[in-house]
Amino acid sequence: MSRPGDGRRDANAAAVLRAALDHGPVARGAIARLSGLSPAAVSRQFVGLARLGLVRERPELSVAGAVGRPQVPVDIDTDGPLVGGLHLGVSAATYCLLDLRGGVVARGTTVFTGLSGDAALGPALDVLPGFLERHAAGRPVLGFGAIVGGWVDPGAGTVVRHEALGMCGTPLRAPLERALGLPVHVDNHARAIALSEILFGRPAARRSVAHLFIGNVVDAAFGIAGVVHHGPRSAAGDVAHLPIGVRGERCHCGRAGCLHAVASDTALAARAVRDGVVPEPDVRLLVDAAAAGDGRADRLLRDRARMVGRAAALLTDVLNPDVVIVTEISSLLNPEYHAVMAEELAARSHICDDPSRLVPPHAGPAVLPVAGGTPALAALYRDPLRAGAERSDLTLRQVGAC
Ligand SMILES: [Zn+2]
Repeated sequence: MSRPGDGRRDANAAAVLRAALDHGPVARGAIARLSGLSPAAVSRQFVGLARLGLVRERPELSVAGAVGRPQVPVDIDTDGPLVGGLHLGVSAATYCLLDLRGGVVARGTTVFTGLSGDAALGPALDVLPGFLERHAAGRPVLGFGAIVGGWVDPGAGTVVRHEALGMCGTPLRAPLERALGLPVHVDNHARAIALSEILFGRPAARRSVAHLFIGNVVDAAFGIAGVVHHGPRSAAGDVAHLPIGVRGERCHCGRAGCLHAVASDTALAARAVRDGVVPEPDVRLLVDAAAAGDGRADRLLRDRARMVGRAAALLTDVLNPDVVIVTEISSLLNPEYHAVMAEELAARSHICDDPSRLVPPHAGPAVLPVAGGTPALAALYRDPLRAGAERSDLTLRQVGAC
């Protein structure tokens, strides 16, 4: 097997693994054509990747009676190793185990209130070691992803700024690595969802994708040619103060009509309480009320959907992406709200009159757990031999600890 750190072999292993992800189950000969590697090199890399548990043969899919020796298709091994993931929200930690195609194997949520700064990570640190051990059920866990809104620096492993969580230069990677004994990869949640779409979602997203996240925080991300943009200091994606041309709450920045001040979950829930639609500022209560037939709740959600559609139209005009994704709770649960956003985009954009350009995330209501593990899966697909070596080290440490 090749050594991690040998650049050409590392790149060849990544090319074979990525071809299996994109086209599997697929014959080795087809991987050679797709990747430009020789059949011998593909076979050599397959052996190394199979030894790490990342790929497997699918003999049951061989074509019987074909001329010559039948080719046994190969694929990503979704019954083998796993990765863990965490989405840290303003009042809830959502965590998961994913297979190597980003499928959710297990998930959980812990709700908390009144925690900020370092303390906001506390509930997740308490439950994650037990959750991973219980649900991995003996399958190796290769790594862990952690995502959060606001300004996140993946290189430093810190949350540079997240006002609602009271985070400012707050370490995220280091406390998780200490608690879990796994390599941890952190990122902003809007970028992670865009990356998840590139890896596991619609093929057109690999050409270009824009993503708008509407929650208690609002964020955006864009990717071109399969790469999500970070920019200097990883600050890309702050659209909180994007002016969307509607009257509304004055933003804490002093202006009116900023996207966060008029369309975030926080703003919407406050409006719903003020109008007497729900008793507490929780947007999930509003979604439930609308689903139960409350016309006022439905109107508030439709108004918000139109504002989100305007913001999506602005992003579309700037970037002209092949795919525009919006992550927003009501449209994840009810396609009518998605349709309102898509029609508003088509009506407002100066370059796109096709509402079908706007889509929900491919993972649907599982978007947060899938995105949580995505930074770890992206690291695996970027450099599978290194991820396998890290797993070996972890296994050795575990054996030593026993
Ligand atoms: Zn503002």
